Amino acid sequence: MSDNRVVQGRMVTAQKLAEMIEDDSIMEVDSIAEADRECPDCGGNVLEVTYMPSVTELVTGWKCQDCDWSEDDRD
Ligand SMILES: [Zn+2]
Repeated sequence: MSDNRVVQGRMVTAQKLAEMIEDDSIMEVDSIAEADRECPDCGGNVLEVTYMPSVTELVTGWKCQDCDWSEDDRD
């Protein structure tokens, strides 16, 4: 997926964004979208990205476009 977004002033790919949330390398990005929520820290725009850190895991992650805040939801 070649969907680039600006995060904290830098242009990043969906893959790079997922790696920022995971703080590690990931296998594959499934989808990226604008999340229907605001950053709890700064009120900025939040991106939602679904990714696979490994073959057996599918994780939904959120990352603020303006600050360091991120969150993930793994089953
Ligand atoms: Zn923020």
